[in-house]
Amino acid sequence: MIEQLIELEKTALKELDAVKDPSELEKLRISYLGKKGILTSLMRKVGTLPQEQRADAGRVSNLVKSNLSRRIKEVIEGIESLKPDQSAFIDVTLPGRKPLRGHLHPITLVIQEVCQIFIKMGFKIVKGPNVELDYYNFEALNLPKDHPARDMQDTFYVSDNVVLRTHTSPIQVRTMESQRPPVSIIAPGKVYRRDSDVSHTPMFHQVEGLLVDKQVSLGDLKGTLTSFVHQMFGSDTRIRFRPSFFPFTEPSAEVDIQCVICGGKGCRTCSQSGWLEILGSGMVDPEVYRFVDYDPELYSGFAFGMGIERIAMLKYGIDDIQLFFKNDMRFLKQF
Ligand SMILES: [Zn+2]
Repeated sequence: MIEQLIELEKTALKELDAVKDPSELEKLRISYLGKKGILTSLMRKVGTLPQEQRADAGRVSNLVKSNLSRRIKEVIEGIESLKPDQSAFIDVTLPGRKPLRGHLHPITLVIQEVCQIFIKMGFKIVKGPNVELDYYNFEALNLPKDHPARDMQDTFYVSDNVVLRTHTSPIQVRTMESQRPPVSIIAPGKVYRRDSDVSHTPMFHQVEGLLVDKQVSLGDLKGTLTSFVHQMFGSDTRIRFRPSFFPFTEPSAEVDIQCVICGGKGCRTCSQSGWLEILGSGMVDPEVYRFVDYDPELYSGFAFGMGIERIAMLKYGIDDIQLFFKNDMRFLKQF
């Protein structure tokens, strides 16, 4: 009996050493120490032994049982220690979580693109106040208080003499007031009008340009704007100058480009005309020079202005101006 017990312990310990996972170990434990286990059945027989063998067999069998139990416990602990600690576990093979990267708003992108084109032609960027004196917004641009052309612009008045600028043109006056020709500036910025629908928002962006020097002609204006259109919309874009009226330029022209949607065949966007208006321009009215003390006999120049949202809509094929101001990520992510 004692030899049997010793043999059993040896075998069991060997088997325990080979165990690799908890379920295997549990099976082994039951096969030895379970109710019908080998050791359990053997220990049951101890009681049937002759009196003189019983004590020794009992002692040995208890020793074997406690040895096996201890070994099983050690094996369990060994397996547990091999298990990775879930809280500190890092799978280095997983792709990293990318931080969300912001980017520039489409309007900012278009302003930058427009400005870059003119900077290459030698224009300098200048800025001016959003809250402007009536004098700079209207009067010095040849728009006296009773001038009917003031109705063309739905103005936000802060007080009788202070407005939210309705265009970036006051920057022209401020620049000419502070420096002598030659002047070649480009002025991007926000402008404000009391207007809101699919194609109008109370605040939008303009870029204004002004060039004054000796012997500047309408040809220079056409050349500059044609070059701009070709760089902005592609070198094969057709362009036309249409006579128009602005109080601060004479003569004045609106500039159309061949419809970018239909290529000139006529569609809903261009109202079947095949042309899209993109900017207003003209030769600076000599009356304006009077306000800034330039000699109209000596100097001439041209000015132009364009709505950035309009340019962005045509460039990206967007039909609702409100999209630029809704901050919908699904829209903004596309740029
Ligand atoms: Zn069209």
